[in-house]
Amino acid sequence: MRFSTRAVHTGQDPEPGYGATIVPIYPTSVFTYDSPGVNKGYDYARHGNPTRTAFEECMASLEGGAHAVAFASGMAAIDASLRMLRPGDRVVFAEDLYGGTYALATKLLEPMGVEIAFRRLLSSDDLRAAWRPGTRLAWAETPANPIMRIADLAGLAAVAHEYGALLAVDSTFASPYLQNPLALGADLVMHSSTKYIGGHSDLLGGLVVTNDSAIHQHLVTVSRLGGATPSPFDCWLALRGAKTLSLRMREHCANAAELARRLEARSDVECVHYPGLRSHPDHELAARQMAGFGGMLAFDLGSGAEGAQRAREVMSRVRVCVLTGSLGGVETILSHPWTMSHAPLPEAERLARGVGPGLIRLSVGIEDVDDLYEDLDQALAPG
Ligand SMILES: *Cc1c(COP(=O)(O)O)cnc(C)c1O
Repeated sequence: MRFSTRAVHTGQDPEPGYGATIVPIYPTSVFTYDSPGVNKGYDYARHGNPTRTAFEECMASLEGGAHAVAFASGMAAIDASLRMLRPGDRVVFAEDLYGGTYALATKLLEPMGVEIAFRRLLSSDDLRAAWRPGTRLAWAETPANPIMRIADLAGLAAVAHEYGALLAVDSTFASPYLQNPLALGADLVMHSSTKYIGGHSDLLGGLVVTNDSAIHQHLVTVSRLGGATPSPFDCWLALRGAKTLSLRMREHCANAAELARRLEARSDVECVHYPGLRSHPDHELAARQMAGFGGMLAFDLGSGAEGAQRAREVMSRVRVCVLTGSLGGVETILSHPWTMSHAPLPEAERLARGVGPGLIRLSVGIEDVDDLYEDLDQALAPG
């Protein structure tokens, strides 16, 4: 079966008791035994819950993997994955990494004796250059925040495996609809389901999908013992979101492409970063690797104090777009990497990554694209 069909049906057989067509929320912490040692596959909600199982089965299918493990947040999924590392191991992270992953690596992983490095990880050559003996894991993110650079996953996987290391991919910005890293050779793929999978900015969740049964066992162990498990209600919401993932992603992509095109044509916008534009450095790689160019873009209003001032004005004038930090919801979200996601980085680091004070990031929603453009237009050029 194809993606949209699996999104609606996989893991979601009618409930056996009463035939409920939609997977119910099971708000119970315990499951009654028939007799000592005999139950129906569940005993205690931290270990598993039928709503979570349905969500995991659907997600494994959508990512084309054998196993999915759901967590209470994207960060919990990242934390569980990184706990595979032991003191003395080395991990190379992509330098344009989600801020929480960067903070987890520096504040929790490194003090445990894991060697960490942040390097450009867009191509196989980048990984070769970043490799040192002891490197056990490469952690890539694509499309990457905020200028949507695209990493060549097949190339990274080939080099990681040549060196006997694993490749993990944070695929949150793409969603399972636009790219499937396991098919390109990645060993595990991670999502914050808070974003596109949930899709409605109303839940927190994360997951990891893998074909490797040892990695799967590790993740189950961390889930059961670390206890950062998602609630049945959040699993139910995420599963409900997943049903419309393909519809939403097509609309996110179409709206983002149209806004990117219109913004790029304006003389008062310096630069638009969207993988669907020919001007984007990774346009061809994105066209090969992804089923669409995504719903995320960024545009630059100039450098220095003037760029900062223009960005501030635009952010305070928008009426339809929402100013906040997250992404992947049905509403268009506008954010300012300089003062929000990338604020913890030193100024020189931010500038080196293409994050200037005039850069605005858009998570393009599914509203009418003309309303979105008119909103940005009146914010960019009032009166
Ligand atoms: C949001 C996000 C995370 C963290 O997910 P939470 O659900 O907020 O814990 C990780 N990676 C990326 C790319 C994200 O956007």
